[in-house]
Amino acid sequence: MVEAIGIDLGGTKISAARVDGEGRILARKKVDTRAEEGAAAVIKRIVDLAASMKTPSVRAVGIGSPGQIDHEKGLLAGEAVNIPGARRLDICSPVRDELKVPCFADNDGNVAAMAEAWIGAGRGEKVVLMLTLGTGIGGGAVIEGAVYRGAKNFVAEFGHMSVEVEGRICPCGNRGCLERYASASAVARSACERLRVIPPPDSVLMAMCGGDPSAVTAKMVCDAARGGDALASGVFDEACLYLGVGIGNLINIFNPSCVVVGGGMSLAGDILFSRIHKVLNAGRAYPPIMAAAKVVPAELGEDSGVIGAAKVALDAADRRDPGARV
Ligand SMILES: [Zn+2]
Repeated sequence: MVEAIGIDLGGTKISAARVDGEGRILARKKVDTRAEEGAAAVIKRIVDLAASMKTPSVRAVGIGSPGQIDHEKGLLAGEAVNIPGARRLDICSPVRDELKVPCFADNDGNVAAMAEAWIGAGRGEKVVLMLTLGTGIGGGAVIEGAVYRGAKNFVAEFGHMSVEVEGRICPCGNRGCLERYASASAVARSACERLRVIPPPDSVLMAMCGGDPSAVTAKMVCDAARGGDALASGVFDEACLYLGVGIGNLINIFNPSCVVVGGGMSLAGDILFSRIHKVLNAGRAYPPIMAAAKVVPAELGEDSGVIGAAKVALDAADRRDPGARV
């Protein structure tokens, strides 16, 4: 059966997996990114990693990375997010030259959405949107099996959708961006600020962080909220309100059949999804459109990066050379 190698270029680790045409992971490897050694060293590590996993069945290699990716040219098009100082970096040609198979690159939000639409929480759905709640909020849209890339590969910056007109300043230059309120980092930051202003007596959350508000994590906030901690519940409710508003906007614009929410915070489970649904059902999405959309947790976890990169590569190789797949 045909196989592809999917690579997830992260800030600290480069993960790779050999994936078959059904989305099964056959082998996996991981190495340190060591971005401080420069772009050439990182690219060599990617090439060596892919070469070490190649079998005669490998048809293509896919690389998922944060930032703006030129999928057609295989470039990290702008500033390479995980490789400081590198701009317009060609990450695909060296892999293609060494392994003698096509290599394609795509944004990490796109590949995660593709993986969930292929074999994860959005399988079988016509229009799948994905939001990944992490340091920021990543996104991707897969429409009838294909990643929607927009005019210039800037699509699905869901985290930079403004949900508060005079809201918090975002590094992107706007105000009130969703990720300033509903990312894992934002939840931790909000809880930290509230604990510093009025530390409530007998706070479960304060005990969890060992009395140091700066050590609070989004997971602690989720756990404390589930346990009934009032401050944590307030922070969590606020994040879910903004998230519900943001997802409602996306539902109104895209008319999706499925919205997948991933990232570490999605592991909060029902405490998160019941709140999001409450916001959506309170009229934050146009009811007839909302009725067609399910909002569900991601199923593939961190594997979505390598599985989605492999799928994007297989599809791109098929488009380029439809007769080659056996
Ligand atoms: Zn922003």
